[in-house]
Amino acid sequence: MAAIAEKLGILRRDLEQAARRAGRSPDQVRLIAVTKTVGLDELRQAVNLGLRDFGENRLQDARPKIMHFPGVCWHFIGRLQTNKVKELLRHFSLLHSLDRYNLAVALQQRAEEMGKEVTVLIQVNVSGETSKSGLAPEELADFFCALNDLPRIKPIGLMTMAPLLDNPGEARPYFRRLRELKEKHTGKDGKVLSELSMGMSNDFKVAIEEGATMVRIGSALFG
Ligand SMILES: *Cc1c(COP(=O)(O)O)cnc(C)c1O
Repeated sequence: MAAIAEKLGILRRDLEQAARRAGRSPDQVRLIAVTKTVGLDELRQAVNLGLRDFGENRLQDARPKIMHFPGVCWHFIGRLQTNKVKELLRHFSLLHSLDRYNLAVALQQRAEEMGKEVTVLIQVNVSGETSKSGLAPEELADFFCALNDLPRIKPIGLMTMAPLLDNPGEARPYFRRLRELKEKHTGKDGKVLSELSMGMSNDFKVAIEEGATMVRIGSALFG
C-alpha cells in the first residue's frame, strides 16, 4: 500500500507542477491509471487511494478487474478487434484508440442495437512509426467527415503515443503536433475537440505542458 501511495503522491505533485508551468489548472488533467500489468490487489489499493479512472489494453485481462470494480471508469487504450465491440460498449466509458473506419462502423452498428452512444478519441500516429497504430495526420479530415454518417459515435478528442526516447523533452514536438491537430479539426456539429490523451510515465510532464487533458500512467504508479 505504502509503495503505491507514495508513488501516487509524487505523481500528483509532478502533474500539478507541470500544469502550473504551462499556466494550466491541475484539474484540467485527468490521471488514468494503466493497470494492464497489475492484478486485483494493486487495483484495489489504487481504488482505495481514490483513483477512479483505469486504463486497459486487452479485454481478456480487463474482464476480471471490471467484474470486481464495475463502479469506476474504464478506459480502453489498446487495439480493439471489431468482434469485441459489444463488450467494449458494455463496460468501458471511453475508447482512446479508434484507429480505423471499419472499427467505427462496427461500433456504430452495435451501439445502435444496444441503444447506446459511444464516446471516442481518435488515435493518431504522429511519429509515423510503422510499429504504431493510428491514423496519419493527413487522414484525419476525411475520417472526421466519415464519422458524420455514424450518428452513435461521439468523437471528443485525439490520442497519441510518442516514440520512446532517452530524453522525454524530445517527445515535445509530437505532443505539440497532436494539439495543433486537435485545434485544426472539429467534432460533430462543429464542436471543438476538448480532449488530448497523451503522455505516459516517462513523458507525461512534457505532454501536460503541451496541453494533455488525460495522461495514461502505468509503471510510475505500479512499476
Ligand atoms: C501501457 C500503456 C501506457 C502506460 O505506459 P507506462 O509507460 O507504463 O506509463 C499508456 N498508454 C498505452 C496505450 C499503453 O499501452
